[in-house]
Amino acid sequence: MRVTVVGAGVVGAMHAWQAVERGHEVVQIEREAEARGASLRNFGQIWVSGRAGGEELETALRARELWEALGARVPALGFRPNGSLTLVRSGLERAVAEAALARADAAVRGYKLLTPAEARAVNPALRGAYEAALYCERDAAVEPRTAQLALRAQLLKSPNYTFLPGREVREVTGPGTVRDDHGDVHRADAVVLCTGAWLGGLVKELAPDLPVRRVRLQMMQTDPLGEALPTSVADADSFRYYPAYRGESLDRLEAGQPQAPTAAAHRMQLLMVQRADGGLTIGDTHEYEHPFAFDTLEDPYEHLAGVVEGFLGRPLPRIRRRWAGVYAQCTDPGRVVHRQQVRDGVWLVTGPGGRGMTCAPAIAETTANELGW
Ligand SMILES: Cc1cc2nc3c(=O)[nH]c(=O)nc-3n(C[C@H](O)[C@H](O)[C@H](O)COP(=O)(O)OP(=O)(O)OC[C@H]3O[C@@H](n4cnc5c(N)ncnc54)[C@H](O)[C@@H]3O)c2cc1C
Repeated sequence: MRVTVVGAGVVGAMHAWQAVERGHEVVQIEREAEARGASLRNFGQIWVSGRAGGEELETALRARELWEALGARVPALGFRPNGSLTLVRSGLERAVAEAALARADAAVRGYKLLTPAEARAVNPALRGAYEAALYCERDAAVEPRTAQLALRAQLLKSPNYTFLPGREVREVTGPGTVRDDHGDVHRADAVVLCTGAWLGGLVKELAPDLPVRRVRLQMMQTDPLGEALPTSVADADSFRYYPAYRGESLDRLEAGQPQAPTAAAHRMQLLMVQRADGGLTIGDTHEYEHPFAFDTLEDPYEHLAGVVEGFLGRPLPRIRRRWAGVYAQCTDPGRVVHRQQVRDGVWLVTGPGGRGMTCAPAIAETTANELGW
């Protein structure tokens, strides 16, 4: 079977991986010299903790298994089962963590509620102030800036895999057939468009009423911390963004403890993970209204720096990088991803939202199974 994968972000990379693993001939086409979208700009969090129970959690847990297996075969992905700590600073926040522990699926996530001393035993860098910590043992991390490159280097070892960078797919010209901007035509048994948050142009022509929206986030990365931060870290504002925490305790938190004004204005939460070089990737904001800002704003960064310094009990290292990224998110919260046959032999897979890095291996596995690869 011949498969054309369009897009070299994590979703495209995982589809190419699945197809090559199953013995098919794969051509992967990327508009840029290398992917430059959400897949490189994210935290690299393989985030199980906040997933909605049911299909979303099952997808994340399966994906985490697949990431771990991939990490064993491709060590340069930087896979590590680091777990996460969500730090709570009030009784109302703690009640949300306790409600999470009471979930029927708490054990498969590896949730535990830790005292500050227990949290420091797991992550000694957290010397600051907090009342308790929700530990999620199943959370993990990879290195987003290099993961796609590492996967590709492995794929290129197969004679069945070809990477064509610097080509934009412009047109579907027949069943399983696309034309790129060089005028070259690529024929296959299946084309999978993994074109991320680029929802205009070809994607708009093929699927004009896509139930997907775009979301923009601000991020930053520090110089090396100078010590290990063994787990990922979140603040309790993250409870407000992840479906796993919905319920009466969260309603009480939202009614009784508004977010700090900057956090509310920019729909923020703290997520933080240490990079392989020792720096910290810290975010994030959520912007939904178009047109998106073309610049990054300082207020959210100052807010995040304050929260992190409170948890670490020390000043942050110098900020080395700031950037923004955009992901595509299904507007139907019941769907993990939007997978649609858009023409004969052509499928579009987009909209995994803020869980695309986490879920991509399992999303690609499902596509491969559904298409009978
Ligand atoms: C700041 C930020 C932080 C995030 N953090 C996390 C996280 O920690 N954990 C998590 O699970 N998820 C996270 N996400 C979400 C995750 O990054 C995305 O869901 C995921 O990367 C989407 O991957 P993708 O391959 O669909 O898209 P992309 O990475 O955007 O890749 C799409 C590729 O397709 C190419 N392309 C588009 N059109 C064409 C065409 N016509 N022809 C050829 N090539 C084309 C583009 O150039 C691009 O390289 C985050 C997202 C952002 C923005």
